Amino acid sequence: MSEKKIHQDTELVHAGRHPEESGGLVSDIAPSTTFVRDAGAHVYSRYSNPTRDRLEAAMATLEGGGESIAFASGMAAVTAVFELLEPGQHLIIGEDAYHGVARLLDTHFARRGIGVDFVDTRDTDSVDAARRPETKLLWFETPSNPQLRISDLATLSRWAQEHGIISACDSTLAPPVMQQPLAFGVDLVMHSATKFLGGHSDLLGGFVTTARPELAERIRAWQANAGAVPSAFDAWLLLRSLSTLGVRVRQQCASAQRIAGWLAEHPAVATVFYPGLPQHPGHDLARRQMRAFGSMLSILVKGDEAKARKVASATRIFTEATSLGGVESLIEHRASIEGAQRRSPENLLRLSIGLEHPDDLLADLEQALKN
Ligand SMILES: *Cc1c(COP(=O)(O)O)cnc(C)c1O
Repeated sequence: MSEKKIHQDTELVHAGRHPEESGGLVSDIAPSTTFVRDAGAHVYSRYSNPTRDRLEAAMATLEGGGESIAFASGMAAVTAVFELLEPGQHLIIGEDAYHGVARLLDTHFARRGIGVDFVDTRDTDSVDAARRPETKLLWFETPSNPQLRISDLATLSRWAQEHGIISACDSTLAPPVMQQPLAFGVDLVMHSATKFLGGHSDLLGGFVTTARPELAERIRAWQANAGAVPSAFDAWLLLRSLSTLGVRVRQQCASAQRIAGWLAEHPAVATVFYPGLPQHPGHDLARRQMRAFGSMLSILVKGDEAKARKVASATRIFTEATSLGGVESLIEHRASIEGAQRRSPENLLRLSIGLEHPDDLLADLEQALKN
């Protein structure tokens, strides 16, 4: 056997899988909460669990190294990272970060005396202008949700490192088959596994991955002590889902590229946000740091909120629902779900492209845009 590195597609099928004692090819689910004293590596499932161990090992392989820590949801993973901050410390966060993250900061972490500045992380000068002596964390999404803005992984992580600040990327919109932020020097990568990694809209989960052992240790301590762990069944489902991640995402990205190009020409559409379009302001950067442009796109329909909501509710194959990255295509009027953190333009619709035939998706959009 040569030492040539195997492809990620192969890793996806085999990572975290090794035959069980029974010879079973597929890993067993280990639902035990407790383990016979001194019988093996495990004591109690809040601390560690065999199924979760396999999942975490698989995820670390896919991220290209480091240690992955699995959580009960994306927000549980986010919380574990923010828990690194002490009262009086400060973080800088992308202004279009996921609304749930903004809500968590504005409510729970504000009460603890954690300072926050929301800035446009595409612009390193504005990031630097927000820096204070007590700044300890830079949190950014790329691509961002829902405007698909692209921030520079290498530049931001270098800036953070120069100032002794931890850099953390929410890479939910770009799973490891599209983007591996650790390779660009980012300290922490976070995923909502509820989205692409799970891929079937049937489980909640989250990950933080880091190549810095001292950060891994603190985040893992939070996972165990706060009990923010996924169930063995969810960990097993997620492991199963990872094996098809590559093919799912490739098909979803190809359909999204085609749909984005078509929408960009459509007379009822004012703007398309999709990094795979050459006219997208982050296109060149996305080419440099992503292997695929993703299957999420947003559009501004010509007209007001009422018009946008009418289009969303007129689709027949796209389901009007929140969330993303699943096998089924979804469409959503974003502003009306963002609540007090409402930041999206009133005429913005976000589309998550699934695995249906792209011709059917185009025909569905065509009829819905006529409304
Ligand atoms: C969904 C999402 C989250 C939160 O994850 P949950 O699994 O819903 O807790 C965080 N960031 C982004 C970008 C998301 O899309």
